[in-house]
Amino acid sequence: MAKIQLSNLAHSYYPNPKGEEDYALKEMNHVWEDGQAYALLGSSGCGKSTLLNIISGLLHPSQGRVLFGDRDVTLAPTAARNIAQVFQFPVVYDTMTVRQNLAFPLKNRGEDAAYIARRVDEIARMIGMEDALNRKARGLTADAKQKISLGRGMVREDVNAILFDEPLTVIDPHMKWELRTQLKSLHRQFGHTMIYVTHDQTEALTFADKVVVMYDGRVVQMGTPEELFETPEHTFVGYFIGSPGMNVIPARIEGDQAYVDGAQIPLGRGYGKLEGKVEIGVRPEFTSLSQTGGLPVNVRRVEDVGRHKIIRADFFGNEINIIAPEGTPIRSDMNRVTFNPEKVNVYANDWRVTGEAA
Ligand code: ADP
Ligand code: MG
Repeated sequence: MAKIQLSNLAHSYYPNPKGEEDYALKEMNHVWEDGQAYALLGSSGCGKSTLLNIISGLLHPSQGRVLFGDRDVTLAPTAARNIAQVFQFPVVYDTMTVRQNLAFPLKNRGEDAAYIARRVDEIARMIGMEDALNRKARGLTADAKQKISLGRGMVREDVNAILFDEPLTVIDPHMKWELRTQLKSLHRQFGHTMIYVTHDQTEALTFADKVVVMYDGRVVQMGTPEELFETPEHTFVGYFIGSPGMNVIPARIEGDQAYVDGAQIPLGRGYGKLEGKVEIGVRPEFTSLSQTGGLPVNVRRVEDVGRHKIIRADFFGNEINIIAPEGTPIRSDMNRVTFNPEKVNVYANDWRVTGEAA
């Protein structure tokens, strides 16, 4: 196993890229620590598969280097990288049995028969296919075939990393949770570096130690679920993570105060002069609705989602969401909002500005 390093990496599918917009991946520098479980999260088309395929060697980057440990593997073929990859749709050998499919990567490596038998049994149990081991893959459902693909990705214990590209897309919803739990326990047991691609924040947050959020060909933040929640480094992370996402409101900043249309919002930190598009970001969880204090707000709608209430409101022409704990009565005279100053982030041109302790 090894740490994976991307150095000045960029990729364009065009032979002669003109500008940045021609790059599916903009230039990036990242280190993926050995043995961590990562989720690569972002909306469709942001470059997740491109990045994964560059790491696995299915695709060679138009610029930069990929290092496994100290070894430069930028141009090495997949087979020379010692990794396993599981794709969105099943890749199985139809004429082989489930057992033969699972054993295939081990046979290829010349492992001995007793070890293969033991390991295949173990994996079959994990994917819940012990009873189907002697069946031919042909004729199985897409769901079962994908479980075989997952099993085959996990069967080797000596890989540098296991890469999963939206592997649960065709899996039945109730089985999804179970397989994800299995992947997680496999990670705890063997400590492989895992990179799990998904566009689903719940999947990412439950699976990963670290979530890598991509937006428009860039990695905008690599962090623990808590970091993504508390301090989104980019407004996209704020919107994309959380339900509903972070409130982002155009503002003017003066020292440790923000101004939205003349209303003054105290901040936990102080800021110097900011250029370009300036906004504050505060999660609905860190705002509260009350009868007195705070700033005026117009409540439009209250949604009870069980765990809590989501209040949809208008704040000086900006739509915001406020979360109130379950059981809080929302009365019609509650028309003031307070933002927790410590939890208000400041953004310039979509990137978070750190500021200084006030
Ligand atoms: P994701 O996996 O996040 O949905 P992809 O990495 O597949 O995103 O795609 C990133 C961008 O690169 C998209 O704009 C997509 O259209 C483009 N792209 C992906 N594969 C190819 C290809 N083989 N040729 C040309 N463009 C591609
Ligand atoms: Mg993809």
